Amino acid sequence: MKAMVLESLADVRTNPTPLRLLSLPEPTLTEGEVLLRVTRCGVCHTELDEIEGRTPPPRLPVVLGHQVVGVIEEGENKGLRVGVAWIASACGKCQHCLAGNENLCAEFKATGRDLNGGYAEYLKVRADFVHTIPDSISDSETAPLLCAGAVGYRALKLCNLQDGQSLGLMGFGGSNHLVLKTAKHKYPNSQIFVFTRNAQEREFALSLGAVWAGAINETPPQILNALIDTTPVWDPISEALKVLSPGGRLVINAIRKEEVDKEVLLNLDYPSQLWMEKEIKSVANVTRQDVREFLQLTAEANIKPEYQEYELEDANQALVEMKQGKIRGAKVLRI
Ligand SMILES: [Zn+2]
Ligand SMILES: [Zn+2]
Repeated sequence: MKAMVLESLADVRTNPTPLRLLSLPEPTLTEGEVLLRVTRCGVCHTELDEIEGRTPPPRLPVVLGHQVVGVIEEGENKGLRVGVAWIASACGKCQHCLAGNENLCAEFKATGRDLNGGYAEYLKVRADFVHTIPDSISDSETAPLLCAGAVGYRALKLCNLQDGQSLGLMGFGGSNHLVLKTAKHKYPNSQIFVFTRNAQEREFALSLGAVWAGAINETPPQILNALIDTTPVWDPISEALKVLSPGGRLVINAIRKEEVDKEVLLNLDYPSQLWMEKEIKSVANVTRQDVREFLQLTAEANIKPEYQEYELEDANQALVEMKQGKIRGAKVLRI
């Protein structure tokens, strides 16, 4: 089968072709697994973190890709169209699994990281970790929902927002544009404020119903009850804490931050940025329940992601464009 394979870590700025098109043997199944014929796979910013070594995969070579849509070709429910998200396995018995936070399990395994992922023609996966896709959502529309969307949904849940409270979004790529659509559905009386360095993304945010859009360091017309930061850098955390209301919560939706501007944290001003019971919480990743709730909600609310398609062979191009911040919505590989 054709696959785009990561063989060694690389800096995408100096090496724009970190993945290589190879022919791999088709996966062979063991008990409890199914084989998917992959049709689409989303491209995620976390893949840049893996390629560039901020969160190096535990094994190389590896096939990346954890927003996978396909049809079951072998195993239980043959012929069914399903999605596969980042969560590929968990123990099911520990305190986190039993509390419904299987994403925090010490035995958590990830698609496209601990196991081969969807940048390939076939994928094998545990049968109980695939998700049925509502009929009204196409394959291409589903892919970005499986990570960018589902993790964004978890981030939104972790905001503890009440309808009518204000929400800020820092960064406006694949995840936060879906959070905006989801928040407008879940909290119809809440106003949404978007912060991004990219002028096109600011226009995009306003066109989707944000009441205000500005640069990361601009001051919004009011303080905000909750903010979600999806950027890869540190300055937005400092800026978010300046505009967070007393008792408000900043949720950081990022697997890793880049090291570039970490020193801004040394200049945090305690009285204005941390005092007054302001909270900071990170998002680890997703549970199966998050993925299922979110797919259901998107179907009900008719939420569709904005996306651009690339051929599997052009995965490197999609990654380079993501690195350069050339994002409008999400990126999806056609396989
Ligand atoms: Zn992802
Ligand atoms: Zn567990």
